[in-house]
Amino acid sequence: MRQFVLWALACARFQVDESGGDCFTLRAPEDRPSLFNGASSVRFTFGEHAGPTTEHVTLDSRMFQWVLKQLGESDNQRHSVPNDYPQSIHEIGPKLFEAYKVDSGSVQLAGCALEDRPLLRVTVRSTEASSGESRLRHRFFTPDGGRVSNELAETLGADELVPAIQFRRSLADADVQQWISVARTANAPGVESAESSGAADEFLAATVVWLKYADGKLRFTIGEQNVELPFAGWARLLARGLQEPPPYVCPLSGLRSHHLQATDDGRITVAEAIAACEVSGRRVLAVELKTCEVTGKRVLADLLHTCPVTERRMLETAMAECGMCKQRVSESAIKHDRCVACRGLTPIRKEQARLARVLGEYPKLDRWRSWKLAETATVYILEADSLWRRLLLIVNKETLDIQHVATASRFGKTWLPLDPAEYPDQIGQRSLSGVV
Ligand SMILES: [Zn+2]
Repeated sequence: MRQFVLWALACARFQVDESGGDCFTLRAPEDRPSLFNGASSVRFTFGEHAGPTTEHVTLDSRMFQWVLKQLGESDNQRHSVPNDYPQSIHEIGPKLFEAYKVDSGSVQLAGCALEDRPLLRVTVRSTEASSGESRLRHRFFTPDGGRVSNELAETLGADELVPAIQFRRSLADADVQQWISVARTANAPGVESAESSGAADEFLAATVVWLKYADGKLRFTIGEQNVELPFAGWARLLARGLQEPPPYVCPLSGLRSHHLQATDDGRITVAEAIAACEVSGRRVLAVELKTCEVTGKRVLADLLHTCPVTERRMLETAMAECGMCKQRVSESAIKHDRCVACRGLTPIRKEQARLARVLGEYPKLDRWRSWKLAETATVYILEADSLWRRLLLIVNKETLDIQHVATASRFGKTWLPLDPAEYPDQIGQRSLSGVV
């Protein structure tokens, strides 16, 4: 009521001064020297306790009727703006920035445009059929005739307006009239059943309210890198922190957050997407860490090795050297200094494919007998006998390169590694690719 009357008087170009004690003084302009009561100034109030010289403005008062008449005669009521609204993007920045936490970095506006968008405010006198009580109500509409909740409109400041003739040319009068008639239809009794049931609405006024809408981009900078985030919303909501700015959506992890951080290699993401390698301490994207299948630690992928025996991925610390084949394998695969493969050697005949392939490559080995073989992911483990000695041969499955050779006495348990210099003597030359 108060805001409506003050807005209406402003539209009709009257000067109103606050005169304290919830009272206002209305002064007649020079071109209209007398007011509704013939005086050149009127003291009025919206409060209950009007004195004998003060007009009490209610919906039924003569002053209110007079104000409506002045408003109707004014051509100044078509466009309005809230009396307090962000006028520059600099009013929006601070609250927007507050919404983000950027570790070791900063956030700034990377461009923002403020656009004026219209809402239609229709004001009615709504009278309850049962009680006969009247109330002033505003209703707000989008350009397509949709309703905007009073709560949102009030948060946007659309209930405390001042006339804005600068928007006179922003919309043709005919378009405004059309909008008003659509809104009045939508506002007819029976349409808004919950609100207007049993109430008769009398149209009092309509004005186009121009509100600033912001459309821009934020730039987050950490170190040498930066990322951008588009945002949009009513400038007043953004400036007052009433609309939560959008979270940054990390394209690397898909996670959303208002907390940004950089990985150790400088990639910007959200804090929730970062994890530290449990061995190196290096901070990377959590999705880039792999699990050691023995310790369960989350670590950088290049710190994991595949055990050739169990074929599980594990940290070096979870591995040990097999006393026989000298391969590094999972500690859990070793028993009595022998890995699972070395403990599982089984007899094989010379004509069987895997052994035949090795003997074909190293013909001199053919003099050994009683061959046994085991296989890991990467090597063949071969054992053979002669009259007095035993031979242990570790051969790369793919290349057939010799990786390790050892000998033992016929019945001894200790394998003595053979110096690679002795390979030609003991193993002979590779038939195709020369001396090993
Ligand atoms: Zn072994």
